[in-house]
Amino acid sequence: MKTIICHHCDMVSKVPKLKAGYAAKCIRCGRVIAKNSLCDPSGILALCIAALILLIPAFYFPLISIHLLGITEGANLLQGALMMTSNAPIVSFVVLFCAVIAPTLLILTITFSSACLTFNYHPPYLPKILKITRILIHWSMLEVYMVSLMVAIFKLMTYADLYLGAGFYFFGALLMLNMTILSNYNNHDYWERYIHG
Ligand SMILES: [Zn+2]
Repeated sequence: MKTIICHHCDMVSKVPKLKAGYAAKCIRCGRVIAKNSLCDPSGILALCIAALILLIPAFYFPLISIHLLGITEGANLLQGALMMTSNAPIVSFVVLFCAVIAPTLLILTITFSSACLTFNYHPPYLPKILKITRILIHWSMLEVYMVSLMVAIFKLMTYADLYLGAGFYFFGALLMLNMTILSNYNNHDYWERYIHG
């Protein structure tokens, strides 16, 4: 059994060794204080490499194509965000940051820290990478983008013919992979592996 302090309410709890896939919750606030992921860093590294490969077609290929008044116009995620720069630069930057920059950086930092722990390489700047990863988790909002895209698709369907592009399917696959990585990634566990590794 090890003693863990809850990051949310400072409750001190004793946590037994957890089975793979199980999580321990704080008895006071109910937040997860420890979990034993199904994937170790090497498994997460494999998922991250797959996600990095998917990032390119998900951002490059058109998400949707709109057919209106005899003209068909397609746009990918980057074009969609950049189109708004002249009218709404702040919105454009937030979309670009939360849907492109933060998810890409998050996957890159998790890939790097997973590779370090898998190959038992402990560089002095790894703690900084782990800190950045913890911040980026809150800013990566691929699922929010997907929900807003679905809403836009359903709204536009009544006015024009819409066709889903290859980018939409790649983006869907990336979203699933991203969710799997984040549900298995445990920043606290990575710190412990770095310190005791
Ligand atoms: Zn708590």
